[in-house]
Amino acid sequence: MRLAVLQLSQQSAESLSPPASERERQLVLIVDDETAMRDILSMHLQGSFDVITARNGQEGMEMALAHLPDLILSDIRMPVKTGFELCRDLRATLETQDIPIVMLTATDDRAMKLDCLRAGATDFLSKPCTAAELVLRVRNLTKMHRQQQELSSQKQRLELALSELQKKDDLLVRQERLAALGRMSAGLIHEINNPLNYALQGIHLLKSQIPSLPTDSAAEFSEVLQDINDGVHRVTRIVADLRGFASSPKSRDHQPTPLLDLMDSVLKYLSHASKQGSETRVEIPPALFILADRNQMIQVLTNLVKNAMDAMEAKSYADDDGPLLIIRATLEDRRVRLTLRDNGIGMTPEVREHIFEPFFTTKEVGEGMGLGLSICHSILSEHAAVVDVQSAPGEFTEFTLTFPADDDSPK
Ligand code: ADP
Repeated sequence: MRLAVLQLSQQSAESLSPPASERERQLVLIVDDETAMRDILSMHLQGSFDVITARNGQEGMEMALAHLPDLILSDIRMPVKTGFELCRDLRATLETQDIPIVMLTATDDRAMKLDCLRAGATDFLSKPCTAAELVLRVRNLTKMHRQQQELSSQKQRLELALSELQKKDDLLVRQERLAALGRMSAGLIHEINNPLNYALQGIHLLKSQIPSLPTDSAAEFSEVLQDINDGVHRVTRIVADLRGFASSPKSRDHQPTPLLDLMDSVLKYLSHASKQGSETRVEIPPALFILADRNQMIQVLTNLVKNAMDAMEAKSYADDDGPLLIIRATLEDRRVRLTLRDNGIGMTPEVREHIFEPFFTTKEVGEGMGLGLSICHSILSEHAAVVDVQSAPGEFTEFTLTFPADDDSPK
């Protein structure tokens, strides 16, 4: 008969595998080495709860882990593993650390009781106890436990919602700031463009007059004209960069594009700019495709590779070391991940924090406008791609672009 109770209890536990929050009745685990005590407790509780039983602390721990009961009712003195040890182990295990534990005590268990309290026991019940007291105590504690679980999952949901909200807020502020800067840049370009064209035409005209000047003044005239020409061309470049920034990268022409092909074009275009003795390793499987606007993606990759080249150019290497850019692409979870890792000057965390802001640059005046990564970011957002940056000053920088899964990518 006793064996039958145990078997019945364990059988019912098999069907109680769903998580605590999905069970209809709450599950109580009784741990006691005395069969008679297990049977009595089971009998008292079975009217209101589902019950499983174990014969010692060791078995109790195994069953607690397997079934995650709503409450554990445990004897203290048991062979193999005592109630105190069980209590300590339950609290030290992530999955079971919050389950209420009620210890069954005899009057002479004072010292053990203290130990159990220290080990994290929730409550005590003196043996023998009435059925009513047992059921009420267990009901109150399991109810409290469910409420605590509900509260903590609500807290988690709230924290998640809050962090999502903060991210969206940051994005909105960023987008609004970018839009304002874009409008301002568009206005500036418009104002500068006409005088710039007059200046270019004027320079052209003046250059054609040089042969008719007396030889002694021609050299000086030509030098001054060259300076003006350089300055005007610099302004032209700035205007071109600003135009790229001001025209928001709305593109609908996203086609399946072979990544290796894109990268080959970029590296060919930048081949003149790479530092002598520098090595570029490309590990992109030819079968990898991304859904992209080809021209825009070439702009992104050109900017990333050019920045890597600049970072390597700015670093002095030991004799046994040299500039190395590794470009690698993999398919993970149907998403294409592209990493560009250079061993250039790297970035401090402070620089890293601002690199996607428009007009942020650490380069010399005339070397960079600080618009490249801001434009890259907008284009990548338009492609629903995510960009991540890791860097250590003096050591390396690694940009990782993760493109969304699409049905044209190989699975
Ligand atoms: P720019 O190249 O005109 O400075 P970007 O927006 O392309 O503008 O880059 C902004 C800044 O990000 C750079 O000035 C540089 O400080 C930093 N940066 C970008 N890529 C790298 C890299 N690979 N290594 C080190 N720093 C980098």
